[in-house]
Amino acid sequence: MAYFDVHCHLAIYPNIQKIIERAKKLSISIIAVSMDLSDNKKTLDLAEKYNNVFPMLALHPFSPISRSAPNLEEAKLVATMIEKNLNKLAGIGEVGLDHYFLKDKNSYAIQNEVFNYFLDLAEKYQLGITVHGKNAEREVFEQLKSRKIHSISIHWYSGPQDLINEGIKRGYYFSITPAVLYSAKHRIVVEKVPLEQLLTESDGPVNYKIKNKSITGEPIHVADVVSEIAKIKNLETEKVKQKLYLNAKKIYEKSNL
Ligand SMILES: [Zn+2]
Repeated sequence: MAYFDVHCHLAIYPNIQKIIERAKKLSISIIAVSMDLSDNKKTLDLAEKYNNVFPMLALHPFSPISRSAPNLEEAKLVATMIEKNLNKLAGIGEVGLDHYFLKDKNSYAIQNEVFNYFLDLAEKYQLGITVHGKNAEREVFEQLKSRKIHSISIHWYSGPQDLINEGIKRGYYFSITPAVLYSAKHRIVVEKVPLEQLLTESDGPVNYKIKNKSITGEPIHVADVVSEIAKIKNLETEKVKQKLYLNAKKIYEKSNL
């Protein structure tokens, strides 16, 4: 393999098989993350079927369909799936807090509860996590502070700069999306974080606006992310590609990638 997409919502593409085949042609390993109950089942099935797909199970801070926070009952159902499939998992994700898409402050307590429920599982089973924290970056960093988790990957960070330094100190990884091609806030992450703590992701099928064109993100776009990181860091693309691959391999080795 040559690249890693460490955060992709494979289960929600309409044309999953094509997406995976295109990724395979570029030798891309895909960490497939889950958002809601049905995602989790689909993610496991995809990992069973394709040898370049590795599953993460969890509940996102909001359901993509109902746009509401998940509840603890659902989290317990996912926990059962996690426990049954421990040796197959790349980790727990996508977890976190969201104060951007979810404006209803009444949902914050339950978001915290579900997030911490999954953090407990990550600690218990020594699994890595991929974390969402849009507009809730400080709260997320606060919750993670005392946790002893195998690896913490902060996904698509665009929050306050002082927390980037804090994350570096704590040994977190930061996964970079194609938004690095145009988002000043996301580019700062690449400037500040040492190459040793960077990862690449598509967060597909999210839409990106690149050169005024709207594109649906998919694993193959991590190649563009690698090139852009090399440009920002002023390093040779091939070296950056190898290093970023090894970073991901080191974290997810546990799952026999
Ligand atoms: Zn995501």
